[in-house]
Amino acid sequence: MSVVDLINNTRTTAFSFEVLPPLKGNSIEKVFKTIDRLREYDPKYINITTHRSEIIYKDIEGGLYKRISERTRPGTVAVAAAIQNKYQIPAVPHLICSGFTKSETEYALIDLNFLGIYDLLILRGDKAKHDNKFVPTPEGHEHALDLQHQVNRFNEGYFLDGSKTSLNIPFTYGVAGYPEKHDESPNPESDLNWLREKVKAGAGYVVTQMFFDNSKYFDFVDRCRVAGINVPIIPGIKPINYCNQLTVLPKVFHVDLPEALACELRKCKTDAEACEVGVEWATGQARELKAKGVPSIHFYSMMATESVRRIAHNVY
Ligand code: FAD
Repeated sequence: MSVVDLINNTRTTAFSFEVLPPLKGNSIEKVFKTIDRLREYDPKYINITTHRSEIIYKDIEGGLYKRISERTRPGTVAVAAAIQNKYQIPAVPHLICSGFTKSETEYALIDLNFLGIYDLLILRGDKAKHDNKFVPTPEGHEHALDLQHQVNRFNEGYFLDGSKTSLNIPFTYGVAGYPEKHDESPNPESDLNWLREKVKAGAGYVVTQMFFDNSKYFDFVDRCRVAGINVPIIPGIKPINYCNQLTVLPKVFHVDLPEALACELRKCKTDAEACEVGVEWATGQARELKAKGVPSIHFYSMMATESVRRIAHNVY
């Protein structure tokens, strides 16, 4: 069953989380340990993020920079296959525009097809760290929607050069949505219009950016419905686990922290205290979302596996 079907047919609120491929050179064991700790809560699928490579330069002298290394997390496709193989839980690799040419994407689609992975989350991807704004990769795509068109064409049985494929199991996929608006969007209406285009183009569901105030999610769902976006909208929940996330999360992800949460975090003297606040807050969010019957809750578990485990224990 595809993840789209699974989300559409679940009778209780499902649980999913994401893992990051290991930093280049590290073993996959850490990924497995994360899954082992969360498996008892019956995740219905597991997302695997994708990261463009970042080249690190060192300032050597007088404004000269030397390329010293490439920091990246390769292996999304392989990690997805390893997870699906080891745990028999559907893996959802993220397919991104950022840092990838169309041909590289086509190769990834062929690999995924051979590996029996047919669920994707399609995204534009983050900008390069050294750029001020997103710059499309040469021979790549500018928006998630363009990448969807490539996947759709592949699903219809065509490679980029127009030749026919006989890889006939189609991919199904979700896309991202932003209850508090994507930071580059001029206004919420424009952002919602593009989301509607992504759904019209074939997205079977939407996963939201993290939010800390459930009313923003409920309002977003209402606005989506009015705009004619009728697919499931999966809330994304991020447990706070560091004191500095009080300022970092709003800055990096362009989301608001409610005053009640910010106030509790300001009182924290250690990350352990912040973690307690984060677990309590996210548990409250997840309980309410579950009580309102959302089809699934997606947890941003990066560096917060233990918190997600505790929240899942409280809620599921
Ligand atoms: P798009 O849908 O392309 O939208 C980007 C902006 O352009 C928006 O402002 C939108 O309103 C506008 N827009 C959309 N389509 C068009 C169009 N055709 N023409 C003009 N304007 C348009 N990043 C990673 O690098 N790797 C990951 O694994 C990853 N996983 C994520 C998972 C989730 C659930 C979420 C919410 C985000 C994730 N991100 C990831 C971050 C994401 O890539 C960024 O938020 C990125 O800035 C936007 O991605 P998008 O797919 O929403 O882009």
